[in-house]
Amino acid sequence: MIRFDRVVKRYGDHVVLRELDFTVAPGEFVTLIGPSGSGKTTILRLLMTLERIDGGKISVDGECLTHMTRGGREVPADEKHQRAVRKRIGMVFQQFNLFPNMRVLQNLTEAPIRTLGLSKEEAESRARELLEMVGLSDKADAHPTQLSGGQQQRVAIARALAMRPDVLLLDEVTSALDPELVAGVLALLKEIASTTDITILCVTHEMEFARNVSDRVLMFDQGQIVEDAPPAKLFSEPEHSRTQEFLRAVL
Ligand code: ATP
Repeated sequence: MIRFDRVVKRYGDHVVLRELDFTVAPGEFVTLIGPSGSGKTTILRLLMTLERIDGGKISVDGECLTHMTRGGREVPADEKHQRAVRKRIGMVFQQFNLFPNMRVLQNLTEAPIRTLGLSKEEAESRARELLEMVGLSDKADAHPTQLSGGQQQRVAIARALAMRPDVLLLDEVTSALDPELVAGVLALLKEIASTTDITILCVTHEMEFARNVSDRVLMFDQGQIVEDAPPAKLFSEPEHSRTQEFLRAVL
């Protein structure tokens, strides 16, 4: 269970998240939608501890990732504890971010060997299984630059899964792809959602995908959730005027 309790995030005077509360149950696929700048990516970055919070508390399965004391000082549990929680969360970015100097296989084995302590053989065997799953078995020895954007993104997804995360964060993973490559990546994500029990938090502008795959959709506006509903409800009968306006603009 991911839990945000009255989470506040500011950049200078700009309040990006305003006492935000929400939970995501284990195995749920939750999509975050809303206008540009509404704070969706910030939520994923906070979960990755790439940013610090300015108030509230974030926990994963009851384990505190980070919270604030009354005095307003951030308490990231102790660092070792934070790293342990953080290790269970994988993220895939818009710009694949593969290690350019490593072949595809090594991109998948590097973190499991270093961070999970897997042997080279174990890590390679797992990496080859994942490459098969993402349809790129024949690219194990290629360099990232020799792959298309869609292939690179599928490697990035496999790399995140190689860490056996309980939680997968997807940040506009198809936005940088040529239109003809988007469908393959979305089909892969759909397969992962239906064949694993990973909890997925997804920021996307692909509304059809969000409608097909999500268990719940959260509509954000100015750092707050204005609507939280199953996709059939949210896309067909949105209740909030901001959701109605947003969907009129993007659909
Ligand atoms: P988009 O759909 O365009 O990606 P978003 O909903 O994901 O938008 P965020 O990226 O979370 O929005 O950004 C929320 C707000 O925080 C924006 O106003 C953005 O300009 C601001 N912001 C994000 N990162 C920083 C930063 N490092 N420094 C200052 N302001 C930032």
